[in-house]
Amino acid sequence: MTQVYNFSSGPAVLPREVMLAAQAELTDWHGTGMSVMEMSHRGREFTQIITEAEADLRKLLALPSDYTVLFMQGGAHFHFAMVPLNLAQEGDTVDYVDTGHWSRIAIKEARRYANVHVVASGEAGRFTSIPDEAQWQHSSKAAYLHYCSNETIGGVEFPFVPQSQAPLVCDMSSNILSQPLDVSRFGLIYAGAQKNIGPSGLTLAIVRDDLLGRARAATPTMLDYQVHAAADSLYNTPPTFAIYVAGLVFKWLLEQGGLAGIAQRNIEKAALLYETLDASGFYHCPVDRPYRSRMNVPFRLTEDRLDDAFLEGAKARGLLQLKGHRSVGGMRASIYNAMPLEGVKALCDYLREFEKTHG
Ligand SMILES: *Cc1c(COP(=O)(O)O)cnc(C)c1O
Repeated sequence: MTQVYNFSSGPAVLPREVMLAAQAELTDWHGTGMSVMEMSHRGREFTQIITEAEADLRKLLALPSDYTVLFMQGGAHFHFAMVPLNLAQEGDTVDYVDTGHWSRIAIKEARRYANVHVVASGEAGRFTSIPDEAQWQHSSKAAYLHYCSNETIGGVEFPFVPQSQAPLVCDMSSNILSQPLDVSRFGLIYAGAQKNIGPSGLTLAIVRDDLLGRARAATPTMLDYQVHAAADSLYNTPPTFAIYVAGLVFKWLLEQGGLAGIAQRNIEKAALLYETLDASGFYHCPVDRPYRSRMNVPFRLTEDRLDDAFLEGAKARGLLQLKGHRSVGGMRASIYNAMPLEGVKALCDYLREFEKTHG
């Protein structure tokens, strides 16, 4: 197998070292003679795995003690419903920032359960920017303010944490653990694992303790944060293998110098790719510079008819999954934590070469 670089938006590339570690102990975890996949989620071995995973995550985020970590299933999509069900009573007003595809899906779901007020929308600018925070129209008594810190499809990322009187809720699915984070600013953070944490099937939630136990009466048991908190994420069978791999990723991140260390590398990778795109008249990135994502880089070729040739040539060089989301077209390079600098360099070399031969 030749070297490949996988630019998928998710499920996405995992650190090579993590894959090799998981492979080495796939059938025999720590001399137990069992795979993690075969262990009881309530046994001593798995208890050690999930306890260590949580401890390492807390270390990475310097998590304050009044926050609960939940390892769940259901994807970010479950939280689109859980957030209003748990944090708002029927008839309450909830505030949302509309910055593109994922915030819109969150808004649509929340409308089923609460009175949604959109404080600002990037729609007029076709979601290529973040609306100026000074112009946001907060409601006077919102139960919470929800935003998506990185729009995975549009490639728009918040370079700041919004100010909010109401508890701040964030869908961090595609940029969690990519840089240091002051969790104390947030009421609730959630993220599907398959972008920057580990395998799909696992979803992470970090909840400030005073927001637990507030679900409205009709909330399904499985959608009540407090139920999962009270059971230490073991109310029912959790995605055990995915939690184990996430734990390996957390250890890998600690070895990279934690979130400050990985942020440095992410900044370097993104700068290299955007500089290469901007230096050419052949490629175009539509996103407003201050809000360009360090994780997902959408770009177009001057002529759409060259897209197939571009993707074919990329694949032949081991540069995989560069096709943009069907809703926006063009290309997208996702360069999450686990994408090495060498992968971005290889992509930049290919960008220049393709322009030379087709531009
Ligand atoms: C991928 C993604 C989702 C959807 O996640 P699921 O785990 O498939 O529910 C939601 N929000 C963002 C920002 C994403 O990147």
